[in-house]
Amino acid sequence: MSAKHILITDRFSTESLSLVQRQSHFQIYKCNPDQLLSSGDLAKAHALLIRSRTQITQEVLEKAKNLQLIITATSGFDHIDLELTQKWGVTVMHTPDANKESAAQLTLTLLLCLAQKVNLASKAIRAGHWRQEDLLGMELSGRTWGIVGLGRIGARVSDLAKAFNMPVIAYDPYQTEEQFEKCSAKRVSFEELLKLSDVISFHVPKTPETFRMLHRPQFEIIHREAFLINTSRGHVIDEESLIHALEKKWIKGLALDVYEKEPLARNSRLLNFPEVILTPHIGAFTEDAFYKASHEAVLKLIQFFIDGSTKDTLPPRAPWYGAL
Ligand code: NAD
Repeated sequence: MSAKHILITDRFSTESLSLVQRQSHFQIYKCNPDQLLSSGDLAKAHALLIRSRTQITQEVLEKAKNLQLIITATSGFDHIDLELTQKWGVTVMHTPDANKESAAQLTLTLLLCLAQKVNLASKAIRAGHWRQEDLLGMELSGRTWGIVGLGRIGARVSDLAKAFNMPVIAYDPYQTEEQFEKCSAKRVSFEELLKLSDVISFHVPKTPETFRMLHRPQFEIIHREAFLINTSRGHVIDEESLIHALEKKWIKGLALDVYEKEPLARNSRLLNFPEVILTPHIGAFTEDAFYKASHEAVLKLIQFFIDGSTKDTLPPRAPWYGAL
């Protein structure tokens, strides 16, 4: 087999790197994500092994004259210009299954913290206070969880909801009846979901259709006792309308892992609400997700150069992508 030049631009687990190094026909090169364009190895690379910090732009593709394959060890793919990779005939694959457990776990963590006011309780004790009226929490059992986007993560979240004895309703116009049945979720419209849910969590991809799908008119009708959680993509919620809703106390609680602009600006008005839980895009930031994504990415790389096989190619072959 002829030599293949593999350029790795981010951190991968030691075990997965040693798997790559064991392939005698691979020659490995490394650079930091922000050095990709200036790397002398880009022009000879047959494959790029990347994560979300590496932007795949026209400039990169123009320099990467031998490129056949890009593997991103992520579920999201906003960092890759997929129109161009298609035009240039470069195969792109991602690792969408590796993160689902961590992202679903974070969603549940945020909900549990909201329900029992864990962040406020922790702050209170550090400030020298003991149990007080404003720390009164609530039970989740019997309360309705509204899931927006019943894909990999949404489905896993529905399992977790069942463990808490929470009925699930979901809005996903692209999912099959089988998926709804598997998740024991009742299919509802987006408007119904907003009105009926005690907990609303978003698990949709970044598309023109999901752009600001939660805007002022939706906040007008949202259930006034709802907890709102977004661990998907920041653009799903219009932040101006969200801040207005917080000021008007139109929602009971809010937890965000993703934002319209990341990193979150130091002067973001979201920081003015102490009861709001904010995390810095850590949905996939666990040791396990890191290892799984590294391993899955490397197996895909090796297999591609053995027999040309592909799995989880991008752009995704999903009805919501084709419908755009
Ligand atoms: P997925 O593709 O498996 O599922 C997405 C679901 O959304 C699909 O069922 C699809 O039919 C549905 N959908 C698409 N357009 C919709 C619309 N307009 N309205 C309602 N539903 C719609 O994706 P996934 O792996 O479950 O990931 C979900 C989201 O979570 C993605 O945006 C991903 O980037 C994000 N994510 C975030 C983190 C994090 O660090 N916070 C980690 C992993 C994934």
